[in-house]
Parts: sequence; structure tokens; C-alpha cells
Amino acid sequence: MRTIEHWIDGKPTAAESTRTAPVWNPATGQQQAEVLLAEPADVDTAVRSAQQAGLAWAQTSLSTRTKVLFAFRDLVSRHARELAETIADEHGKVVSDALGEVQRGLEVVEFACGIPQLLKGEYSDQVSTGVDVFSFREPLGVVAGITPFNFPVMVPMWMHPVAIACGNAFVLKPSERDPSASVIVARLWAEAGLPDGVFNVVHGDKTAVDAILDHDGVDAVSFVGSTPIARYIHERATMAGKRVQALGGAKNHAVVLPDADVDYVSDHLVAAAMGSAGERCMAISAAVTVGDGADEVVEAVAAKAAEVRVGPGRDDSSEMGPVITAAARDRITGLIATGEAQGARLAVDGRGLTVPGHDAGFWVGPTVLDQVTPEMDVYREEIFGPVLSVVRADTVDDAIALINANPYGNGTAIFTSSGSAARRFQRGVQVGMIGINVPIPVPMAYYSFGGWKDSLFGQSHIHGPEGVAFYTRAKVVTSRWPSVDHPAGASYHFPTTS
Ligand code: NAD
Repeated sequence: MRTIEHWIDGKPTAAESTRTAPVWNPATGQQQAEVLLAEPADVDTAVRSAQQAGLAWAQTSLSTRTKVLFAFRDLVSRHARELAETIADEHGKVVSDALGEVQRGLEVVEFACGIPQLLKGEYSDQVSTGVDVFSFREPLGVVAGITPFNFPVMVPMWMHPVAIACGNAFVLKPSERDPSASVIVARLWAEAGLPDGVFNVVHGDKTAVDAILDHDGVDAVSFVGSTPIARYIHERATMAGKRVQALGGAKNHAVVLPDADVDYVSDHLVAAAMGSAGERCMAISAAVTVGDGADEVVEAVAAKAAEVRVGPGRDDSSEMGPVITAAARDRITGLIATGEAQGARLAVDGRGLTVPGHDAGFWVGPTVLDQVTPEMDVYREEIFGPVLSVVRADTVDDAIALINANPYGNGTAIFTSSGSAARRFQRGVQVGMIGINVPIPVPMAYYSFGGWKDSLFGQSHIHGPEGVAFYTRAKVVTSRWPSVDHPAGASYHFPTTS
């Protein structure tokens, strides 16, 4: 059995870990490896290594840092397929989807390659006679990233390229369910010339996470995962005096107006709900049809959902893979049953799907539930599987009210050919990321990504300009160089200008 080790101080290591967790191949249902689970002593070793290496890295010139980032960018690009296949094997998503994830991560690396521009400070000349003021930003020190299973490359890359470009050292605690890609990324950082200790990977469960949250040597924590854990991380790490951004779960609605093209809408709704088996924080899980035409939309969506090709991620003909674990499969199928029992109509039922030759895989087929109402569990819970619930509303304002009553506020979309309806929607919804005829509106790397309400705890969205601000802190310098022209002379009132 292959054992997946930590990466500390520039090399793989078991450190003091003896506990392990299984790593499954979701398409076969077989265990393919075991991953070490760090003890607090291992976290301490990684953080100390990061502290030591971070001191020198923070003093390393911008041009040297940039060279490392460009080299890393090239290496990730060259190893994209290896990363994607590793993701497919452990997460289950299809390779083409995994390649897309690597590409979106790479775009954050490219953003971070421009760090000299992003770290430029401000300068005000002669604010008082002979006095100048300027500001610049410095790294925080050691930053930790704690990440979910569903994007094992992209989500950590929302964090570490920006943090490292800013001059920080990084300790990543990836999901223990698909940990291998993070070790490949660590190797690529080393090959790119990043000094040992600046990027570390510590695998683990709650024990490792708590050790990170409580460690004096960790200055900031970026978390992405489910809402209950995001809330917990935010509370515990802020209590420990750290800077925290904690991105949580989602229930993303797509509103369909009667003037939208049904063919376009149904194509995009099915792809956005079923892609990656619905295991995306930006997946569309609720479609809200407004006014007449709902039946036509449901019929088109159901027909297309039933045709999605489900199979192993490594099979090029698959459009959708398995879900992450047997427990996830059972939870999702249980929720579908509850939906039916609570009165929803099963337009497409993905339960009981089998894939020939992969009988023990963790399969759930595309599922469409119609006539869903806001009280039902399938509407209230984040299902995180290939299940689309269709809710009906009378007006666009009713649809907006429904979205705003939801505790989550990650992403949302509207399908319409009316500019004024779209504008009413974009201004009215209490959601961080909005798509207009774009069902999965993940912002480009040079914007920041983040939801509202229970989808984000803390002030900062991730990557983009807010990422740079999160991973740095400002200094403002007021300077005077006394000379013959402007002799120094102290006064006893509070400093003012002259
Ligand atoms: P999760 O919350 O179970 O796990 C996330 C991380 O927290 C993992 O590293 C895990 O080891 C750790 N963790 C789990 N339980 C813990 C505990 N009790 N104490 C301390 N640490 C713990 O999430 P997941 O199942 O891996 O990922 C799916 C969730 O992530 C979904 O809710 C999804 O919406 C969310 N997500 C959100 C975004 C976003 O940008 N908002 C992006 C991706 C995923």
C-alpha cells in the first residue's frame, strides 16, 4: 500500500506520524493509498521550518521571487496532465474537468507573477514643508491554508502563489481525501527554485487543523470548506489572534426568465449542476423558473440530464465521474429519497446507477427534482452531488427574495434576454458572485473570489487584489531630512502641516 507523506523543509517525510487514513479510488471503490495524519508535533516542525525559511524569503528581492514564480508557472503548465490524472484518480472527476481546474489555478500563479506591480506602494511628496509620506506592504510571516477535497489543485492555488509571491512562507493542510496532488505541487515549487521550508504540506484531520489554528507561529489562516467548519475555523483562529478568511458552503440558484432561450438554458443548467458530479461550490443546485414556461424548461433539462455520460474520470468518453466516498453517495441518495417523500417530483432519478466494470464505484447519476419548495430538505441543505432542484416563482422579485432568504450567498445566475431584468437582479441579490447568462461565474484570478453571508467568514475575499491585501500588512512612513534650508525645531503641539 502506497503511503502519502508530508512535505516539510523541502522533502517528503513521515515526521512523527503513525496514524493514517484511506485514500480511495472513487471509480473503483477500492483503497489505493493511505495518507499520514499529522500530530501536533509534526505541525510544529512544519511551522518552525516555515518560520525559519520565511525570514530569508521575506528579504529576497522582488525580481528573484518573480523568477521563481515564472519557473513554477512553467512547471505547473508542463505537469498539468500529471496533476489532472492524479486528481481524477483520487477525486473522481473527469480528466478534462481536472485540466480545467489546473488551468484556473495556473491563472492565479500568472497573476502572482506580476507581484512587483501589485506590491507598489504610494508616495506623497512634500505633505508638509520638507516632509514626505510613503507606504509599502510587508509579508505577514507564516500563512496556513486548509483546503477542501473538491478542487485539490485549484483551491490551494488560490492561496499559496499569492502568499509566497508576497514574501510569506506557507503551510498547506490539504484534504485528506485527495492529498497526492499537493505533494506534486510541493515538488514543483522545489524544482522552481523555491528555498526549502517556504512551502510545506502537512496532511491530516482535525488534530492537524487544530494544531495549526492554535500555533503561535502561524500568522494567518486561509480556509475553504463547508460552512460549519468555516465558522469554527474563523472563531478559533481569530481567538488565537490570527488574520482569517474562511470560505464556506453554498446553495447556488439560477433564475430562468420566460424570455430566455430554453435550449441554451437547459444545456448550461445541466452542465452547471452535474459537472464534477455537483461537487463544486459554484455548482447550480437550485433552478428558479419565473412565470410561464417552467414545464418546458424542466422537460428539456430532464432530457439532457438523463443523457449525461457517467463513468470513470480516466475514460475520455465520461462527462461526469463518481462522488468522493461511499458515505457521500449514501448521503446524497438519502436526500433524494427525502425530497421525494416530502413531495418533490422526481423528473430524473440517479439512484441505483451502475457503471459496467466499476460495480463498486461511488456512483450517483444526474437527478432532477421538480416542484421543490423552500421547506424541503433538498432545498435547505447543500447536497453537494449531481442533484438539481427546480423551484417555481411568479416574478423576478420573488426569485430575488428567495435567494436573499437563503443563508448562503456564494454564487448565483440569471438567464434572460432582458438587460433591465438582469440589472435589477445583479443589484438586488445578496450574493458575492453573479452570472448573467453565465451559470458558474467564477471570477478571473485578477478579481477576488468570495461569497456573502454564510459562504464567507472574515472580511477578505480570496486571490486577486484582496488576496494581496490579506497576505500583507501596510507600513506608512513619514520622513523628514533636516537641512540648512529646513532646520529642525520641535514644537509641543500635535503635529500639523505647514
Ligand atoms: P470540509 O469542511 O469537510 O473540509 C475542509 C477542510 O477542513 C479539510 O481540509 C478537512 O480536513 C478539514 N476539516 C474537516 N472537518 C474538520 C473539523 N471538524 N475540524 C477541523 N478541520 C476539519 O469540506 P469538504 O467536504 O472537503 O469540501 C466540500 C465543502 O467545501 C462544500 O461545503 C463546498 O461548498 C465547500 N467549498 C467552498 C468553496 C468556496 O469557495 N466557498 C470552494 C470549494 C468548496
